[in-house]
Amino acid sequence: MSRAHTAGGPSAVVPGLSAAPRERRRPPRHLADLDPAERRAAVAELGEPAFRAAQLSRHFFARYTDDAAEMTDLPAASREALAAGLLPPLLTADQELTCDNGTTRKTLWRTFDGALVESVLMRYPDRVTMCVSSQAGCGMGCPFCATGQAGLTRNLSTAEIVGQVVAGARVLASGAVPGGPGRVSNVVFMGMGEPLANYGAVLAAVRRLTDPVPDGLGISQRSVTVSTVGLVPAIDRLAREGLSVTLAVSLHAPDDGLRDTLVPVNRRWKVAEVLDAAWRYADVTGRRVSIEYALIRDINDHGWRADMLGSLLAGHLAHVNLIPLNPTPGSKWTASRPQAQREFVGRLEAHGVPVTVRDTRGREIDGACGQLAASASTSP
Ligand code: SAH
Ligand code: SF4
Repeated sequence: MSRAHTAGGPSAVVPGLSAAPRERRRPPRHLADLDPAERRAAVAELGEPAFRAAQLSRHFFARYTDDAAEMTDLPAASREALAAGLLPPLLTADQELTCDNGTTRKTLWRTFDGALVESVLMRYPDRVTMCVSSQAGCGMGCPFCATGQAGLTRNLSTAEIVGQVVAGARVLASGAVPGGPGRVSNVVFMGMGEPLANYGAVLAAVRRLTDPVPDGLGISQRSVTVSTVGLVPAIDRLAREGLSVTLAVSLHAPDDGLRDTLVPVNRRWKVAEVLDAAWRYADVTGRRVSIEYALIRDINDHGWRADMLGSLLAGHLAHVNLIPLNPTPGSKWTASRPQAQREFVGRLEAHGVPVTVRDTRGREIDGACGQLAASASTSP
């Protein structure tokens, strides 16, 4: 039984709502942590003219390099100091796994302090999506999720988040991914962690990803998806940022009784409150909200729950993304039967709610949330 279940009655502390464990040491400062003005100030502190900030930004955000030797437009005497001061190595690839003929690549990264996080690159005919982690581990305790089982280690810094995307951009630009040289077109915050529980770093990462080259990576805001378990105040805060990123809400149940167990933070913000926040987000941004729903056999895949979900969503700017459950090691839960899945889709459509079933890319490389890191940390 999960920690979520053992936490007990209504007065129990909701997992994950306490602050992150006090950070022992912060990751070293990196160019990608800073906005353009802060970069100029940092370069000046290193005794260099401020315009070198733009040169460094171009190396990192347009050429995806942090190697001083390649920065031949900088005076040799300055290169090392600038790279050491602003482009410290933050992530080291610990494992690299590919499947789908090389078009899905999962990387397990080791941070400067030994935490493990993962990112996944998925190349489709029309786009390349990077799935990134926002925290090492996660404190939200969802019992079906591998990341949730291990708890929260720490928040990632902005540069540790952005670095996952830059690494993907670098490997794509090199032509190493089948399909020829390419670019990252989409980013989803669906790796390890709850992005809205690391709000400041995630927001700054979104800015770095979407600022025009060379200040940032120049990815379209609409092509960035922030997925949340439903932290209502943070959803409202995100709506006020003036961004048009896509919001995904991990609902997984239309009724509080079941959602309290599948998504323990539901004890704090109920289904109706989470959906109200989602509709406010849709109102302010004009963006259709994605409702994530992992189909778990005989747990949340009943026809009546599909009808209940359909009535909650009908008439709102939403679509449902059904995710066949990827069973975590040792879990008694598994994906829905095909017939139940078809029935679920049909009932939602009967309510006029658009539905997609997520493809199951990367299953054979533990593609789902947190599974690679979980198996790496439990293996000897
Ligand atoms: N913490 C955020 C984002 C990371 S999880 C959130 O929960 O939304 C990204 C998505 O993967 C979420 O919708 C989550 O519920 C789903 N997920 C986690 N574990 C899963 C599993 N074993 N099978 C299918 N989906 C899973
Ligand atoms: Fe955290 Fe999301 Fe996993 Fe829940 S599903 S434990 S919020 S990563």
